[in-house]
Amino acid sequence: MSRRPLARTYRPQRFSEVIGQQAPVRALAAAAARGEVASAYIFSGTRGIGKTTIARVFAKALNCEQGPAEDCCDACGPCQEIAQGRSLDTLEMDAATHTGIDDVRELREAAQYPPSRERFRVFIIDEAHQLSQSAWNGLLKVLEEPPDWCVFLLCTTEPHKIPPTIESRALHFAFRSPPAALIREHLAHIAHQEQLTIDDEALDLLVKAADGSVRDGLSALDQARAYAGETISKDQVRDALGLVPGEAIRDYVKALGDGDATAGLAVVARLDEQGQDLRSFIAEVLEQVRRLSLVLAAGEGVSGTEGLSPQDAAAFSVEQLVWLGRVLDQTEARLRQGGPQRTLLDLATVRMTAMAKMTPLDDLIERLSDVPAPGSEPPRPGRAPKRSAAPSQPARARTEPPTPAPPANRQTGAGGDLLARLSSAVQRIRPPVASYLSKVCEARVDAEGVLTLVLPQDKQLWERKLRDGAGRQALAEAAREVIGREPSKIAIALEGAAASPQRAGPTRRRASPKQLLDRTRRDPLVRGIFERFGAVILESQALDAPAPADEPPETTPRSTNHPHPDLGGSD
Ligand SMILES: [Zn+2]
Repeated sequence: MSRRPLARTYRPQRFSEVIGQQAPVRALAAAAARGEVASAYIFSGTRGIGKTTIARVFAKALNCEQGPAEDCCDACGPCQEIAQGRSLDTLEMDAATHTGIDDVRELREAAQYPPSRERFRVFIIDEAHQLSQSAWNGLLKVLEEPPDWCVFLLCTTEPHKIPPTIESRALHFAFRSPPAALIREHLAHIAHQEQLTIDDEALDLLVKAADGSVRDGLSALDQARAYAGETISKDQVRDALGLVPGEAIRDYVKALGDGDATAGLAVVARLDEQGQDLRSFIAEVLEQVRRLSLVLAAGEGVSGTEGLSPQDAAAFSVEQLVWLGRVLDQTEARLRQGGPQRTLLDLATVRMTAMAKMTPLDDLIERLSDVPAPGSEPPRPGRAPKRSAAPSQPARARTEPPTPAPPANRQTGAGGDLLARLSSAVQRIRPPVASYLSKVCEARVDAEGVLTLVLPQDKQLWERKLRDGAGRQALAEAAREVIGREPSKIAIALEGAAASPQRAGPTRRRASPKQLLDRTRRDPLVRGIFERFGAVILESQALDAPAPADEPPETTPRSTNHPHPDLGGSD
């Protein structure tokens, strides 16, 4: 026994049954109630969004015997005839199959005569963008002097292909996909009506398969029911719809986090052997990466992160997830263009797993800039000469040592000893943190067990490094080794301004994160990296105390001069 498709059984017959589309439906219902109807309407939106369904409901509302009213009765003669496609006054044509001149001539003739028994003669034209030029010309002739009773409903997925002469004579309604929650609610309701038992996760998968179309969601539910019967589980939905198994996605994302190319490639090979669609696999991995980044950025309990905990995201940094998302998105786009699926996915896997092993850029920059200087800090190669070339900059501020005394001289007595022992312990525990520690000029532990580290005032970046996350953890561990107990508190202090009187020059403005980012974007070197490597800027940090060329003092009124073309100076 064959069953009637759910999408047909539950096709909306009245405005009140339409899911979503509130704004257009309200406007159309009001027009029907007033009987003030335009000669032509364009209904645009993606496939399966309900354009033709709403066109039919509108035709019913216009011609219902109980009208004019906001909604049709769905019971009278005209309503029934329109629903069954046998109305003499509501005619449907499909432009994809009828584009010849004969049909246009028929259409023009039909438009000239008043409706045989209803109020309006409604022409529903599906796939209207496929009408031929001559058909458009014929339609334009009708619309130039439209008879009162004529209404054209042009349904299309490609409204930009409708000639402007037609569009200017029509009212355009763009239909949008209903929110996923609404589709989910509707599917749950219909499953209940049909006495199906379906679990939440299975419902989620159906909503995903629906991809914004109620009709597609119902077709997916049909398929799942045909496969599973009255009780439907998530695995059955996956099997019925040929979706990628959930564990493949989990294994693959884990491999990305671990930087394990072998494991990642094995997942791809397994799916390929099973004949799975690798493009939908990539799309699901991208979705998972998006959800993980939500957990990492906003914590648990954010909508869309159900079933994930911070531990799931622990293997990643936000930057890494953003980058992974980008690579996955690019790969998906290449697959959509018909690239070799397996090859592209293998390459992307190698690229993404290699990312996990890369040294964070921050660490790299600090290691590069971490030149052990007994006196003042050496100027950075390549940057300093460029700065001194700026005409309006006095040489003064840059050549001065940033602190009155070199850090090494301060590490005397017990404090210096403590610092040295801390440094060597941290070096063992987490080497990158040791490089931050090398900037510390003083370390002490007080009676309360508070470990205080003092940094020169211009080392704010390092202050943050030591205060947060891995830096703090490594310090606590090292302190436990060195002083025999965990410090009650770790305080990171910057040297007081009084301690470095030489620096009491004009106050400098700190750039806001946005200004820094803008400046970074304008940098020609950065632009080169963008072009060659498809890089993306996630964050900009001032590496040191801002130099005068970067940060004009507020007292300098001529900051609009452009000392460097690349920096622009427009902040
Ligand atoms: Zn009716």
